[in-house]
Amino acid sequence: MYEHLLNDEQRRVVEEARAFVRDTPRQLILDMDADKVRFPRAWLREAARRNLLGVRHPRAWGGRAMDWVTASAVSEEIGSLSYELACVFGLGADLVCDAIIRHGSDAQRERYVKPLLAGEIFAAECLTEPRGGSDFFGTTTTARDCGDHFLLNGQKRFIVGAEGADYFLVYARTDPDPGARAQQSMTCFIVDRGPGVETKYLYGLMGCRGGGTGRLVFRDARVPRENVIGEVNGAYPVFNTMMIPERLGTAAMTIGAARPALEVATQYSSRRKAFGEVINRFQGVSFQVAEAVTLLDASRAMVYLTSRAVDDGVAVDRVRRLISETKKFVTESCQKVVHNAMQVVGGIGYTNVLPLERIYRDIRLASIWTGTNEVMAMIIAHEWYRGRGKHKAARLLRDYARDAAEADAADEIVYE
Ligand SMILES: Cc1cc2nc3c(=O)[nH]c(=O)nc-3n(C[C@H](O)[C@H](O)[C@H](O)COP(=O)(O)OP(=O)(O)OC[C@H]3O[C@@H](n4cnc5c(N)ncnc54)[C@H](O)[C@@H]3O)c2cc1C
Repeated sequence: MYEHLLNDEQRRVVEEARAFVRDTPRQLILDMDADKVRFPRAWLREAARRNLLGVRHPRAWGGRAMDWVTASAVSEEIGSLSYELACVFGLGADLVCDAIIRHGSDAQRERYVKPLLAGEIFAAECLTEPRGGSDFFGTTTTARDCGDHFLLNGQKRFIVGAEGADYFLVYARTDPDPGARAQQSMTCFIVDRGPGVETKYLYGLMGCRGGGTGRLVFRDARVPRENVIGEVNGAYPVFNTMMIPERLGTAAMTIGAARPALEVATQYSSRRKAFGEVINRFQGVSFQVAEAVTLLDASRAMVYLTSRAVDDGVAVDRVRRLISETKKFVTESCQKVVHNAMQVVGGIGYTNVLPLERIYRDIRLASIWTGTNEVMAMIIAHEWYRGRGKHKAARLLRDYARDAAEADAADEIVYE
């Protein structure tokens, strides 16, 4: 929808992503959904060959130095294939590489970013633990400082690429002092698959299958000191910037995932007849399609606006609310889009004769992962009230409370 806002180079990259979408065999999507494929390595290699992984990263590391607007448009296109393909497409290249490029060393970029963007190795991101994902700073995985290396112990769960990834971005507690501030006691590591790193359990998922989602157990896994990303006890700034690719990326790919559902419903409702009429003549049908179209367009507008805000360098703490709003609004809107699409199609939409049921299962994840939508609401509320306090003077364009006939009835406004 925002194609007219893209320049020629941006449009070319989006067209390349579309060509990749056209060329991806349907059998891969079906095999992943049937858990016949554990991790789509060959497909990722092909994405890398086409130079589509991590398009916004610097050319020096294998990217194309594009902006967030382009990256979001690419994510939408890839999302239209399947939610899980978009997920593995973004996880290593957009999330893990982002952390290493922003906070890591050149040696790490050389060793872990370049080969990943070339499709030679793959990566996973490990935040969530069996004890909980929302309370990230309650992490109980530990890494003991042994001088030239750390010893990592603990578990992470629901890790996409637990099977399939060659290395993991892992957050662990490094300050053993129980009184230390959580934000200053965690470190982010690059952990190679190897001794002490075990993929323990692969989950039977409702949707989003085929990405090797499992539980990882670390038992005295030896992590060399040079694999610390940023500073020891300095995971907070890494985590803080990672919410951009995590949540903005999720929003963009969710639009793509919902789009085919609307297309299928539009085609079907333009031909299917009931009571002698094509069903899109019934407002009960066409208004549901209208709502879905509106939600998709509003979602794109939001993703575009937020992508621009990040591109324009709006400070992370200021952009945090926008990102959280976008993740929450877009994922809920797109779930509604798919719901409407299935409703419009009727019974056959509930079968695997059409892909709607798979999309419905897949997209249910959108409001749960990369921070649940309740956590997004918490951040939005927090940032909103904080911002109101901080920018009070600037906000008073006029005293709107005074624009009431009885504004002087001060006794009637009771706060306590
Ligand atoms: C298929 C799949 C893939 C995933 N991939 C990854 C991955 O690759 N890497 C990774 O690290 N994680 C991954 N996750 C984990 C995901 O991010 C977490 O499941 C999510 O953050 C929620 O954590 P939790 O499941 O532990 O739920 P909990 O944190 O236990 O939350 C349970 C419920 O309580 C609510 N809640 C919790 N705290 C609050 C609060 N303060 N206020 C209001 N409500 C609250 C939550 O919103 C939720 O509804 C994946 C999950 C799934 C299902």
